[in-house]
Amino acid sequence: MSGSERSFIFKIVLGGDGAVGKTSIRENFMGKGFQGSYMKTIGADFASKKMDIKGSNITFQIFDLAGQDTYKASRGAFYKGGVASLLVFDLQDPTTLKNLNVWLDEAIENSEGSISTFFVLGNKADLVETRQVSADAAKSYCQQMAAKTGITFVYLETSAKTGMNIKDAFDLLAYRLLLARNEPVDMEQPNVDGLAIIAPAGATTTSTAVTATASPAMEEKIVQLEKRMAQLEENLQNMGKVVRRVVKKLQE
Ligand code: GDP
Repeated sequence: MSGSERSFIFKIVLGGDGAVGKTSIRENFMGKGFQGSYMKTIGADFASKKMDIKGSNITFQIFDLAGQDTYKASRGAFYKGGVASLLVFDLQDPTTLKNLNVWLDEAIENSEGSISTFFVLGNKADLVETRQVSADAAKSYCQQMAAKTGITFVYLETSAKTGMNIKDAFDLLAYRLLLARNEPVDMEQPNVDGLAIIAPAGATTTSTAVTATASPAMEEKIVQLEKRMAQLEENLQNMGKVVRRVVKKLQE
């Protein structure tokens, strides 16, 4: 190809309750090239993998956080500098879907807004007979989270056991992260079976022919702007409080 290859390092954080399959997803994706370092004492694993997408060298750094509450305090540091979060739940267990709210809030708060790309992965899709969460239920949950946060969610079903949709999920993630950075990507959005893109306004695009509209980059910018506006509003309110206090003091 051309000699002008671009390089990107994307820090990805996996979120979701214990035993939903986070480690298995990471290991399935890393394949034989897996280089992991275990940081059990601080509650996280980390591994990185390189991939090429149309002339871009992408290095994914994937952080897998321990679900235990005891690690909660040290978790914040692992979100810093993150650009995307994969929120994983187990299709056999509706509680793990409901808990994604908590994982979402944690990623938003601890990354201080740097994580703005979110995928929701319904994992263990191979266990068809014991499945308890329908695709519709999962999508409507994503819709609620989208309405609450203004974030667009990508919903996919995966199996870390069979490998279903795992590589595709990371291809799609790379693609969307490049688009969000206004990087030209000379390809169509990767087509993943069962994919749904759930936007805050309620426009859900369901899979096989998802067209790459102009919006992911724009959407992310809007989200960032909304966050900054909320922050400014809060600052203004705080300033108002200080002014009122000073005026009160002067009147005393
Ligand atoms: P984590 O705690 O979220 O990292 O979950 P693990 O990756 O440790 O997986 C928990 C258990 O679920 C393990 O026994 C895995 O083998 C199993 N598991 C993970 N993903 C899948 C999957 O897609 N299908 C099936 N059948 N089992 C899975």
